[in-house]
Amino acid sequence: MSKIYRPTWAEINLNHIEHNFNYVANLNPNKQIIPVVKADAYGHGALEVMNFLYQKGINMFAVSLLEEAIKLRNNNKKIKILMLGPILEDQFSVAQKNKIDITLYDTNIVQTLLKTNHKLNVHLKIDTGMNRYGIKDKKEILEIIDQLQTHKTLNLEGVFTHFATANDDKKIYDLQVERFKDILNDIKVKPKMIHISNSSSAIKYEKYYDFTTHIRLGISLYGLSLDKTKTNLKPAMSLKSKVVQIKQLKAGEVVGYGATYTSVTKERIAVIPIGYADGWIRKNRHNDVQINHKRYQIIGLICMDALFVSIDSKVQIGDEVTLFGDLISIDEVAEKQQTNLYEVCTNISKRVPRIYI
Ligand code: PLP
Repeated sequence: MSKIYRPTWAEINLNHIEHNFNYVANLNPNKQIIPVVKADAYGHGALEVMNFLYQKGINMFAVSLLEEAIKLRNNNKKIKILMLGPILEDQFSVAQKNKIDITLYDTNIVQTLLKTNHKLNVHLKIDTGMNRYGIKDKKEILEIIDQLQTHKTLNLEGVFTHFATANDDKKIYDLQVERFKDILNDIKVKPKMIHISNSSSAIKYEKYYDFTTHIRLGISLYGLSLDKTKTNLKPAMSLKSKVVQIKQLKAGEVVGYGATYTSVTKERIAVIPIGYADGWIRKNRHNDVQINHKRYQIIGLICMDALFVSIDSKVQIGDEVTLFGDLISIDEVAEKQQTNLYEVCTNISKRVPRIYI
């Protein structure tokens, strides 16, 4: 890693990632977990997370893009890599060369691939109701499976689906499970990998399924859960910075671009070197931050590289500031931003160095 000068960083606790992996693994003792490390491991660092888990004996990972798959492959020749996102015709040979297992998500792409001699492990994605990637029609799916299973060079290694509402609407979720089971029942020779669960499904329902073999674990690997039910997950990422300047304001002074904040009385404020170019977007402008075990409020508009916090006399230059982690959860940040946990952690930009503890 290149030298870090600015005191702003994301702290990633790899032991928490191991804890979370084991937590979900213990809930599902007969299933294999495929860590999902797309989008740079949800902002946690794909190579670091992959290398760490590989050392713990995990040897299959899932990503979304071919670029992400190649990055993993260049770093590790031994792991199995499943690309979950859509592959295009001109990418087949790159996937083959890099030994990347691909997802077949559309009839046209399957028919194109069937006419080639590519040697690839493929997973067929069945759309059971989310209407994103995947094939919906049962007859078509069964025909494709036949074609793939009799093809000279292709190996149908897996079938899977993805849930739209594993964390909330159980009715829609159950319908998707039923559709998947109905199709699976009619597959004569079952592929060796059958996987349906993401994090929420893995934590709540996977233990009831005897027809699956694997789990695709994303957000909860990183210690986060979309469900309100209590889990033993431990969030792996904290976002930190330090106080670099303190200003003493008189009553009636303004703060920051647009002068959106005016001090009512004498007030101390701290300037913190993190801003929207770091992914700490302007929607966080009314959030709290933590300094020395206490909450303080952000004031004014967030700048590209800095923000302001109203402080008391205890805060000093050099004090550590936690934007999330410890007292302030990512859930709280997501709620304030009116978004989900995924967006908060993947938004933390590349400019913020990741420090592994
Ligand atoms: N499988 C697929 C196809 C996905 O797109 C994702 C993430 O969106 C996952 C698994 C992991 O989901 P989660 O992060 O909810 O565990």
